[in-house]
Amino acid sequence: MSRSAHPAGPRHADVLTEGHYSAPPADLNSLDQKVWSRTVTRTEDGEVAVGGIEVSRLAEEFGTPAYFLDEADFRARCRAWADAFGRDADVFYAGKAFLSRAVVRWLHEEGLNLDVCSGTELATALDAGMPAERIAFHGNNKSEAEIRRAVEAGVGRIVLDSFQEIVRVAHIARELGKVQKAFIRVTVGVEAHTHEFIATAHEDQKFGIALAGGQAAEAVRRALKLDGLELTGIHSHIGSQIFDMAGFEVSARRVVQLLAEVRDEHGVELPEIDLGGGLGIAYTSDDDPREPHEIAKALSEIVTRECDAAGLRAPRISVEPGRAIVGPTAFTLYEVGTIKPLEGLRTYVSVDGGMSDNIRTALYDAEYSVALVSRTSDAEPMLVRVVGKHCESGDIVVSDAFLPADLAPGDLIAVPATGAYCRSMASNYNHALRPPVVAVRDGSARVIVRRETEEDLLRLDVG
Ligand SMILES: *Cc1c(COP(=O)(O)O)cnc(C)c1O
Repeated sequence: MSRSAHPAGPRHADVLTEGHYSAPPADLNSLDQKVWSRTVTRTEDGEVAVGGIEVSRLAEEFGTPAYFLDEADFRARCRAWADAFGRDADVFYAGKAFLSRAVVRWLHEEGLNLDVCSGTELATALDAGMPAERIAFHGNNKSEAEIRRAVEAGVGRIVLDSFQEIVRVAHIARELGKVQKAFIRVTVGVEAHTHEFIATAHEDQKFGIALAGGQAAEAVRRALKLDGLELTGIHSHIGSQIFDMAGFEVSARRVVQLLAEVRDEHGVELPEIDLGGGLGIAYTSDDDPREPHEIAKALSEIVTRECDAAGLRAPRISVEPGRAIVGPTAFTLYEVGTIKPLEGLRTYVSVDGGMSDNIRTALYDAEYSVALVSRTSDAEPMLVRVVGKHCESGDIVVSDAFLPADLAPGDLIAVPATGAYCRSMASNYNHALRPPVVAVRDGSARVIVRRETEEDLLRLDVG
């Protein structure tokens, strides 16, 4: 993503050439509604509140660092996706983005389906009451035990990821006297990230079976022959944090081509296609994500057009948004610790968490925003890098952002849009205790995943 250079004074001259960051916002106290969840506001006394509760109260009761999840926003996003896709399509929330029993109950109540990709995600979903037929099971290396558990439970679909797995699932289903509904995951030769996509003939990655070279067609041939399987559709997932629909267009076209080939060869019209997830969200004010209804309209137009051209009945469409549902609903609250100005560069602001609660910056060079939330300030903007407390120089939470120059230890700052892939990827590096997730709604706050304790950690250490 191209970012404009910051027109600051000579103090920032050395880093101006890097151009990674935007100009400071006109008002550091204002909250861009694009990156904050819907009930986040700044109250009259200058503090930020979510679900009607001020951050100082939240910090006092639940400690920092902690993730605060706006339940009303989560439910509203589920409804927006369900409404946009309507009765003729299925929305599967990708559980790997963030999964807990409460989340499963909300999804169930709001009428969404759920993707899982491990036996323990499956166990969580079933334990919290998600009907098995509304669960899809993914993964490139599902164990036999995991497959058995999924088939026994009666999951609605298993997404087959390899030739070996086609045989494995069919065998286990037969052993259990069942016929398992299944999709085949194909790689369509589209790699999509943010504002770009690359269409290639071959894909060098571990997921799926290539359309290229007739491999996917061969997989369909084999799956159709096996008693234990009912092949219901083709699945494709092209990437993550995508804004441009062009990648989906190519992917849908190639999947529909396969459906036409399958019809021509076997006389079978597979009734479903799953176009995966990967829809982008706003991490900073520069990002402009699409609304679910725009995405639904675009996808259904593409699929209808391609099917008309191929003389196929339009299949039922599924999508699998993870980040786009949960990402924007939460922020991470940190307490500011050491502040270290590096003359001519930037100011390093250390917080009480770091790469153990948000690995995305270190892992993907992800961009985040940050705001002072325990008070307002009229001080000048200061270029900062928000870093954690871990023994690793790559332990960065927010690479480049502006905070007021009077920032002091003890202030609370918050990083928005941390609902997806933060708690779910959290680690115990340096024996960090993984932070809690607190759901906030209508003036009440409730822990849905509790903070890890020293006792939790030491209990695992049985030497
Ligand atoms: C990761 C993943 C998703 C969800 O991706 P998001 O970027 O969170 O929307 C959906 N489907 C599959 C198969 C995935 O691997």
